[in-house]
Amino acid sequence: MSTDLIVGSLTARPGEKITGTCRFDVSGQPYELPVYLINGAGSGPTLVLTAGIHAAEYASIAAALELGQTLDPAGLNGQVIIVPVVNQPGFSARSIYVNPMDGVNLNRVFPGNPDGSPTEQIAAWLFNNVIRQADYYIDMHGGDLVEALVPFTLFPEVGQPELDMASLEMAQMFGIPYLVRKPGGFGSTFSAAAGAGIPALLVESGGQGRWPRESVTLLIDGVHRVMRRYGMTPGGPVEPVETVVLKNFLWLRSEHAGFWYPAVEVGQAVTRGQPLGEVRDVWGRCLQTAQSPADGRVLFLVTSLAMNAGDPLLSVGA
Ligand SMILES: [Zn+2]
Repeated sequence: MSTDLIVGSLTARPGEKITGTCRFDVSGQPYELPVYLINGAGSGPTLVLTAGIHAAEYASIAAALELGQTLDPAGLNGQVIIVPVVNQPGFSARSIYVNPMDGVNLNRVFPGNPDGSPTEQIAAWLFNNVIRQADYYIDMHGGDLVEALVPFTLFPEVGQPELDMASLEMAQMFGIPYLVRKPGGFGSTFSAAAGAGIPALLVESGGQGRWPRESVTLLIDGVHRVMRRYGMTPGGPVEPVETVVLKNFLWLRSEHAGFWYPAVEVGQAVTRGQPLGEVRDVWGRCLQTAQSPADGRVLFLVTSLAMNAGDPLLSVGA
């Protein structure tokens, strides 16, 4: 039987689509979060989609907006909740990585803390009011303003075989060929969701502040494939896509502030020990050579010349 879909003060009855803004306090300041509620005429699972956890990953935000604007409750079995721009202050500031309210990366603090820093409070509100309602959860990301990437899907492993298998199966269904395993149940959106028993994914497409049609379409098609697979929309079985699971997601970080000279392209196959680029000082002296920790493929690559100590340089999926 279909039921009302409720987020904050918004309610969508079966067969209804409701759009509106949820308001809550973050450290005493009002925080406004636009939400799409699509409550299908037929019964089925609840799918939660979020984007803009990182507010300048525009292909994912564009995909979430388009899905919110086009999904039709009439032909839908089940419920879809879409939060297209979670990090509202970051979006208007065109901020990379963090929430400018406190300089914290929202995707490191889930499931959040209602008594914590502003970013922890936002995470807690989203987790308790939105993500917890999911039978399936997909968080959409991409390369940030200063990152190029090849599309890939992260799936959580929390040590519960049935749940881990459900997340992997959803990852295989989504349609992005590279899959990366992410152990642990805290910190990021999808890991925390899995920690609460919800099959979940984090999908990455686009980057460098651009949102070309193919990057947006990849995400929209993936969501439609998942919805079809779980019987939320008609169309029957989904054509499988060939996928490869990369067991390790190895990040290299800069030890110095300076200038970053990559020696590889995003997507390039690399071997263990291969020099991947140099961080140099203003006089051209090499401060750090990034070496590949394994045989694998460059999944994302920071393309900014400016580099800060502690910032990511690139990642290798192995
Ligand atoms: Zn991101």
